[in-house]
Amino acid sequence: MITGYATIDTAVEAVRTGAYDFLPKPFLPEELRLIVNRGLERHRLAVEAKQHEIEQSMLKRRFVSFISHQLRTPLVAVHQYLDVLKHLDQQDDVHRAKGQEWLDRCLIRIDELQNLIGDWLTLAQVEGGTLSKERIKVDLNPVIPGILKTYEETALEKNITLQAQLPDGPLFVWGDRNYLSVVFDNLITNAIKYNRRGGTVTVSGSQSRGEVVIAVADTGVGIPEKCRPFLFEEFFRVKDDSAKKTPGTGLGLHISKKIVSEMGGTIEVQSEVGFGSTFSVHLPAWCETTEANGEQTNARREANIDRG
Ligand code: ADP
Repeated sequence: MITGYATIDTAVEAVRTGAYDFLPKPFLPEELRLIVNRGLERHRLAVEAKQHEIEQSMLKRRFVSFISHQLRTPLVAVHQYLDVLKHLDQQDDVHRAKGQEWLDRCLIRIDELQNLIGDWLTLAQVEGGTLSKERIKVDLNPVIPGILKTYEETALEKNITLQAQLPDGPLFVWGDRNYLSVVFDNLITNAIKYNRRGGTVTVSGSQSRGEVVIAVADTGVGIPEKCRPFLFEEFFRVKDDSAKKTPGTGLGLHISKKIVSEMGGTIEVQSEVGFGSTFSVHLPAWCETTEANGEQTNARREANIDRG
C-alpha cells in the first residue's frame, strides 16, 4: 500500500486488511523496487508451501489407502480359511489333512501381516528422527558375523552358503548399532530370499579413504535394469515370478536407504539378471574428529531441546 496519509493507525489497518507492506510517500524508486521484490519472494514461498502441503496430503492419502489394502488382503484370506475350517468335517481324514494345510496358510498370512507392521513401525521410528541421538563408535567387524549367524538355519533350508570376508582389524563407523543391524539384516535377508537353491551370500568389508564399505553379494535372480531406479522407493517390488513367490513388504530397502543417508552414507546396487546382485553400503569411517564433531552436535541438539 502506498499512501500520502501515513499514520500508525492507517498502517495497522492496511496490514490487518491484507496489505503485505506499507510505503509512505514520497519514496525512492529503489525503496519501491526492494519492497516489490520482497513481496514477490514472499508470494513464491507461499505458493511453494501450498504445493508442498497438497503433495504431502496426497502422499498421506495414498499411503493410508495402500496400507489399508495391504492389511485387508491377508486378513480377508485368514477369515475365509477360518470360515471353511469351522464347517469342516473333522472326522474325515482327508478333510482333517486339508484343514491342517489351511491352518498353515493362515499362519503364513499372519506372519506376512506381522512383518508388514514391523517394517512399518521401523519406518515410523526412522522418520520420527529418533535415530541421530544414539550415535556411538561401532565396530562392524563383529556385527556382520553376528547377523550372519542368525540366518544360518534359513540359509540351510535353501542350501545356501553364507560367508564373510572381513579384514583382521576393526571397521569403525559412527552410528547407531541397532539401526545399522536393521540395514545389514535387510540386505542379508534379501540376498537369501532372492537367491537360488545352492547359491552363496558373501558379505565383505573394507576401509579406505575415510570410508567403510560393506558389500552384500548374492548369486540370485538379479534385478532388471529398468527396475533399479525404483528399488529404494516405498513398497516397490520387482513384478516377476520370484517376487510373487517370495513374501515381502517392499519397505526393507527404503528403510535401509533412509538409515544409511541419516548416517551420512550411501547405498548402491550392481546386478545382473540371472547371476546375482551386490548391494554396497558406504559409511563414513569413525575417526577422532567425527567423534568430537558428533559430541558437539549432540551437545548443541540437547541445548536446543533444553531451550525448547
Ligand atoms: P521386500 O520385502 O519385497 O524384499 P525390499 O525393499 O527389501 O522389500 O526389496 C524391494 C524389492 O527389490 C524386492 O521385492 C525385490 O523385488 C528386489 N530385491 C531386493 N533385494 C534383492 C536381491 N538381493 N536380489 C534380487 N532382487 C532384490
